[in-house]
Amino acid sequence: MTFIDIRNLRKSFGPATVVHDFALAVERGEFVSFLGPSGCGKTTILRMIAGFETASAGSITIDGQEVTDLPPAKRNVGMVFQAYALFPNMTVAQNIAFGLRVARRGPDEIAARVEEMLRLIKLPDIAGRYPYQLSGGQQQRVALARAIAVKPQVLLLDEPLSALDAKIRVSLREEIRSLQKDLGITTIFVTHDQEEALSMSDRVVVMNEGRAEQIGTPFEVYNYPRTRFVASFVGTLNILTATVIDAENGRLAIDGREVLAAHTVEGRASGDTVTVALRPEAVTFGEAADGRDELAGTVEAVSFLGAVVRIRVRLESQTVSLDAFNQPAVRLPAAGEPVTLCFARDDLLVVAGG
Ligand code: ATP
Repeated sequence: MTFIDIRNLRKSFGPATVVHDFALAVERGEFVSFLGPSGCGKTTILRMIAGFETASAGSITIDGQEVTDLPPAKRNVGMVFQAYALFPNMTVAQNIAFGLRVARRGPDEIAARVEEMLRLIKLPDIAGRYPYQLSGGQQQRVALARAIAVKPQVLLLDEPLSALDAKIRVSLREEIRSLQKDLGITTIFVTHDQEEALSMSDRVVVMNEGRAEQIGTPFEVYNYPRTRFVASFVGTLNILTATVIDAENGRLAIDGREVLAAHTVEGRASGDTVTVALRPEAVTFGEAADGRDELAGTVEAVSFLGAVVRIRVRLESQTVSLDAFNQPAVRLPAAGEPVTLCFARDDLLVVAGG
């Protein structure tokens, strides 16, 4: 059942429209990420769901109740911001208790709930500390506890991890996700970090210039990007230009070399120029075989990245990068060597957008 239903949502600031006809249906208990570059409208949509920003058009319904014009306090939504935003003059316990006090809960209930929240965020002993006595990761856990203490129906997280260092970010990702699952709380998470979105979410909304370019599971948006923007934003390094030789049968030419795309080239005619995406880990060295095609080129650069070695190969006018696993015993070609690249036809995707 749809829990958050967003329809035709639009937001303009003066003459500038920053959110265009945005629609999304979120299921109860789902974890959905808004992924996109800075300025694409992620935060503005989140703020409209929370009620901190009014919608220029459209509607937002939560659990069957239209909330579009309700003030934030009437929406039963919890929010965590990028910069910790704890009250600096209150202890951790007072911070967590804040929403409960506003809701006029009794002192015994508040004390019990604060204790429960501290256990939940695995910081049972910091109730009396002030925010300045906590690390960034601890402050963000407390901010999370404060948001969920009032048992909101919806949790909105606006880049809550981006101010933290890499290692804490990864561990907090897992903690937030498991907490969210345990509580079954419907959550929307804003991020510009593709790995964060892919690793945490049930579904990802890839956003570009105030529009949802693609909505799908992490598997779908990563493996089957529908547009050039989605392909490049979720990590496909190889975005190439190809010429259609035979649209019906998916025959294309990349730098003069004929290849087959397993997926049809819809709405295109022979002679058209199209954009194709090919993930670097889908490319290997070797010759064409069943269901696979090849491209010839010369190694242009080899970058050692640790777990993988990224090798850029020049075809003619374009380059293709491939990721090879780092296996010290296996010799990889060096810059200047001629090589043959091979990939499954299934992995060559024709995407929309020039
Ligand atoms: P970031 O990751 O940088 O926060 P974002 O994707 O969350 O980016 P928004 O903060 O939603 O983007 O901003 C979308 C656009 O709306 C931007 O161009 C921004 O400058 C503009 N904008 C946001 N708030 C206002 C405002 N109060 N007045 C005018 N323009 C605004």
